[in-house]
Amino acid sequence: MTGGGGGGEHPLTVVLRIRPLMNEEELVGCHTCAHKVDNNMVVLMDPTEDPDDILRANRSREKKYIFDHAFDYKSTTEEVYQVTTRHLIDNVISGYNATVFAYGATGAGKTYTMLGTDTEPGIMYRTLSDLFSAMEKTRSDNTYKVTMSYLEIYNEMIRDLLAPAAGYLELREDAKGVQVAGLSEIMTKSTLEIMELLKEGNKERTQEPTAANKTSSRSHAILMITVKQKNRIRDTKDTVRIGKLFLIDLAGSERASNTHNRGKRMVEGAHINRSLLALGNCINALSDKNGSKYVNYRDSKLTRLLKDSLGGNCKTAMIAHISPASGNFEESRNTLVYADRAK
Ligand code: ADP
Ligand code: MG
Repeated sequence: MTGGGGGGEHPLTVVLRIRPLMNEEELVGCHTCAHKVDNNMVVLMDPTEDPDDILRANRSREKKYIFDHAFDYKSTTEEVYQVTTRHLIDNVISGYNATVFAYGATGAGKTYTMLGTDTEPGIMYRTLSDLFSAMEKTRSDNTYKVTMSYLEIYNEMIRDLLAPAAGYLELREDAKGVQVAGLSEIMTKSTLEIMELLKEGNKERTQEPTAANKTSSRSHAILMITVKQKNRIRDTKDTVRIGKLFLIDLAGSERASNTHNRGKRMVEGAHINRSLLALGNCINALSDKNGSKYVNYRDSKLTRLLKDSLGGNCKTAMIAHISPASGNFEESRNTLVYADRAK
């Protein structure tokens, strides 16, 4: 939990990314209220205070938040990737599970980090291309089979983003672990082809217009990469090591009450909060040094799916996202508190 490397022996890395202030935000009179102070510290200023008085804000304890690493508008996705995800590739190739989450309100930059753009590819793309080259290096000793699936959890229901016509899928638990019945798996090794599939899949995500934001993401998008590995010399016919890596673009964390919606949308909000709350509780329990806290995976579909991939030998990285705009102060504070609690 300490240090900025994110790798090594620490099972949980929590970082914060502050995206750049947008022109639209400046146009409506927003100023920057979230500042990166150093590589581990972020200061959030109450928007009613003088924005230039950062020194004073720095002295008031309740506005400082400490992370394993902090990134701001100067940071690239590559840097975020190196600190949070790059080191997980070896774990997964060796048969361990790992999970990377993008957390934050709608518009805070989660999809930018995870999926990215053509000019700034996200963590999903970078992970896959490095995974393929890492396997290439040890191919003389090992055989690998890599598959991936892309799914969403929306309203506690699971949909295959690569085969949306299949309808809702069931979560099953058997001797092999947690499985999504009927989920499609891709086996290509072309990262470009995968990127196209992910972009297409993302268009299938359940987007509901809300008062807060027209393209608010109400679903968790989950890329599941499975690596099955066998050592040509040491392993017998039946031994196979399986490592799973989950890369997750979580639903917007803004509270249902902020969206001024009733009826259907309120239910959605409750479900999103339920899975994000369950996730926060699980991560919090896992990071408890005494190990005395009870980890309840059963509270949501998301945590049930991740049951074998949180805790134990698994590594977890949480990338919390905030907008720097004064108009998003409340949401940013909620995110900072959530991410802080996750540690
Ligand atoms: P979210 O997925 O959390 O709802 P997005 O990733 O869609 O948010 O980001 C909202 C907007 O901000 C998009 O237009 C995106 O391109 C832009 N954006 C987000 N993060 C960055 C960043 N680090 N640098 C530049 N633009 C960003
Ligand atoms: Mg998004």
